[in-house]
This record gives sequence, structure tokens and C-alpha cells, in this order.
Amino acid sequence: MNAKLKWVSLSGLLLIAMNCSAFDLRQSLKDKLNTDVPQINPKLVEAVNVVKEARGPDEEEEIAIGRQISGNLLGAAPLVKDAKLQKYVNQVGEWVASQSERPDLPWHFGVIQSEDVNAFAAPGGYVFVTLGLYRLLQNEADLAGVLGHEIGHVIRKHHLKILQQSQLVDAGGKLLSRQVGGDDKIQNLIGNGAEIVARGLDKDAEFEADRIGVVLATRAGYDAYGLPGVLQQIGHFAKDDGSIALLFKTHPLPDDRLDKLDSAMEDRFDRIKGQTLEKRFYRVKK
Ligand SMILES: [Zn+2]
Repeated sequence: MNAKLKWVSLSGLLLIAMNCSAFDLRQSLKDKLNTDVPQINPKLVEAVNVVKEARGPDEEEEIAIGRQISGNLLGAAPLVKDAKLQKYVNQVGEWVASQSERPDLPWHFGVIQSEDVNAFAAPGGYVFVTLGLYRLLQNEADLAGVLGHEIGHVIRKHHLKILQQSQLVDAGGKLLSRQVGGDDKIQNLIGNGAEIVARGLDKDAEFEADRIGVVLATRAGYDAYGLPGVLQQIGHFAKDDGSIALLFKTHPLPDDRLDKLDSAMEDRFDRIKGQTLEKRFYRVKK
């Protein structure tokens, strides 16, 4: 510490000391304690509670809800036992999610053991792709697009909002799942949560997730046409193909999604040279 600084800090201490002696701290505290604490208007308390209820679950609660629902999903279809595959999907997913407005969620990605063609998202950053859908992908840009769509559902809280509306999450935002402890009624509610995740959303939420998927994948450096390419492939499935029945039931038809994407994208993505990373794409054994 140089001499000048020393002087400044010393004079500061002196000032504080002088201030303390200028008034009686103990008396001042005593006076404060003796004055009546004003009553808080109960109407104000009520208003604060209303705002709190409208706010919905906070992030910690959102993640806990997602974790419970994901547990249920994984109970029905476990993760594919291929550590390299899971690690790869997590790396791609986390990179795409890092381009979103919620990069700090504890993102989890997984490929689940099901030959159906489908993908799911649960609140708080949980994203699952079926093995059947994964097998359709040609390259990493396709995977990024599909994951980007599900990430879109998470960041826009599409499922969380439905859970709230259906009162699986109570008015104060406290999740009913937190009370789990062998209570059948509560378990059923979480079961319903998983069902909502599997049942799908309204068309507008799906179109929005498609747009977000394309934007995030492009921002991450991938070819923008990954997701549209996958939608095209899905569109070629026979309508009565059992492996895709649930996806068709829960999503707008691929042609409608492609039309919407086409008018949203126009030609703005044509000049962006994204990567497909076909060689790096992890292929699963038959
Ligand atoms: Zn979707």
C-alpha cells in the first residue's frame, strides 16, 4: 500500500469514527423498536400471492417435474445400452441447446429402446429420441434438427404450460410430484404427465418448435435443412405403418409442417453454408 492510499483509508476510518460519536446508535435502535410496526395490508398479501400463482413453477420445480416425467418414460422404454451413442447424442444436444435462450438448464439427451419413430421432451431440459427415429437420420445435421425441435418445446415451456392448465402442477407452482412417496394418486398424476408429453401439443406449438429447431441447428453451424429432410422422410411412411402411428396422431402431418417451415424460412437459409457432418455421425448397428 503506498503512502497516499494509506492516508485515504486512515481518513476514512476517522470519518466513520466521528460519525458514530455524532449520534447515539443504541438510542436510535431503541427508538426504532418502540415505534409500532405498521400492519401489512391483507389485500397486499393477497395480491402478492395472486402474482406468485400466475408465475407458475420456478426453474428448480420445472426441472423436478421433468425428471419425474422422464423417469416414467424411461420406465416404459429404457435407454439404448450403447454408451458411445448416448454420449454422442448428449454432445450434439448440448451444443444445439447452448445456442438457445436457456443454455444453462441441466440438459439431458437420450436414445430410448423403441422401434417406433418418435421423439419426446419433458420440462427442464429432458429430450429423448427413439431408436426407430435415430435409424432414419443420415447425418449430424438431421440429429441437430430433431433435437432442436424438442429443445424448442422445452425453452418455450410447451408441456409445462399444459401440465399447469391440467392442474397436475398446483396453482402455487408447487409440483404435485414433489410429494411422491408411494401415494398412488400422485403417481397417477405423474403418469398423466408422461402421457401429456407423449400425447403431444397443439399444432401451433409444433410449428413453433419446428422453426426453433431450424434456427438453433443453423446457429450451431449445421445445415439448416436437417429437420426438413427428416420430415420429408417421415412423410414417405405409409399412413398405416404402426411404428409411426403415434407420431402422426400427435403431430401435424409432415407435409403441413414442411409447408409452414417453407413459408417461415423463405430463401433466407439458402446462402448459409452449414455442415451436415455425415462422417462424424454415429451410426447404430443393426
Ligand atoms: Zn413436437
